[in-house]
Amino acid sequence: MARLVLKFGGTSVADLDRIRNVAQHVKREVDAGHEVAVVVSAMSGKTNELVAWARDASPMHDAREYDSIVASGEQVTAGLLAICLQAIGVEARSWLGWQIPIKTDNAHGSARIKDIDGTELIKRFAKGQVAVIAGFQGIAEDNRITTLGRGGSDTTAVAIAAAVKADRCDIYTDVDGVYTTDPRIQPKAQRLEKISFEEMLEMASLGAKVLQVRSVEMAMVHGVKTFVRSSFDDPKSIDSSPGATPVGTLICNEEDIVEKEVVTGIAYARDESQISLRRVPDKPGISAAIFGPLAEANVNVDMIVQSVSEDGSRTDMTFTLPDGDLARALEVLDAEREAIGFELIQHDKGLVKVSVIGIGMRSHAGVASTAFAALASKGINIRAITTSEIKFSVLINSEYTELAVRTLHSVYGLDKVSA
Ligand code: ASP
Ligand code: MG
Repeated sequence: MARLVLKFGGTSVADLDRIRNVAQHVKREVDAGHEVAVVVSAMSGKTNELVAWARDASPMHDAREYDSIVASGEQVTAGLLAICLQAIGVEARSWLGWQIPIKTDNAHGSARIKDIDGTELIKRFAKGQVAVIAGFQGIAEDNRITTLGRGGSDTTAVAIAAAVKADRCDIYTDVDGVYTTDPRIQPKAQRLEKISFEEMLEMASLGAKVLQVRSVEMAMVHGVKTFVRSSFDDPKSIDSSPGATPVGTLICNEEDIVEKEVVTGIAYARDESQISLRRVPDKPGISAAIFGPLAEANVNVDMIVQSVSEDGSRTDMTFTLPDGDLARALEVLDAEREAIGFELIQHDKGLVKVSVIGIGMRSHAGVASTAFAALASKGINIRAITTSEIKFSVLINSEYTELAVRTLHSVYGLDKVSA
């Protein structure tokens, strides 16, 4: 017997038929003798609709009321799934964030989980009851409902798994695992059997959309074995007995991965902007003068490139940020123009950041230079580069996204060889 947390995303609970299908997946695990808690998202599209209503009511809405509106989608699916489980003879009860309780801070709209009391859930397991938990929501110190940021049900699931010391957290979604890259761009992408927490964190942060970044952080910190799998696989055809190996991707400790590839995956993120400040005085304090005010305005700066000045007097400073932050950043820089002392400001939007990720990079030289040569051979110009221990990223024009992803996927030997 194992203790499992199963999480089902929006497309897995999109309508009543899909919810009935989820109930079959849950029943299969219960029948195999496991203790089960389920975390559900809202039906796909529901949260977007709720967000739009809140914005429509007033663009300057109260964040506490926003949370009480957008948290409602998960309440509906939790209740519906509990009913569908009861209808097929599985004892089940729904739980909202405050009923557990899932305690969070007061940052409405992107609250962080502070504490989960798993005692009551564990008591229910002992009685053979399945807990169906509304994802994405919690309760703040002032007893107000909070939400955990878009995609937050993943984080709820991992946090519940940590709180009840589950053996595994299964994230059911509309794909059967984590792929070496986006299969819509490269059909030769392959499903990974295993990926380390660290690599998954990079993949998610750099654009892969399978999991919310915070959920991976949480899994890494608490060592929660997380398994990404498909709810579209026929529930009846899956073997859930101990020792069976279901199809999916296991996110686990590096030590549990025997065959470490140099490169594990290629991620990409669209809608990046680039700003260049030309002929900035090259003196101590200049970076602080630029990035301090941007940080205060909540502009999320990413890659930073500073060129070496020829005579030590003036330099160029280039950096990237999300397209959505561009207008605000330009305003801030304009206001600081005198204090910073740049001569010219240039910007571009709609760029793409392509990243290559792999723990094997730590011990291999020349991994990035292979990419640079491959991109050059396709005539793709690199606008900026950043590197760190287990990844590097290049900024390119968006029309080259597909070509760059496919080129890198193949140059690192990730393409599936068809039999
Ligand atoms: N329903 C929420 C959202 O769409 C949370 C989730 O699905 O994970 O962001
Ligand atoms: Mg999601």
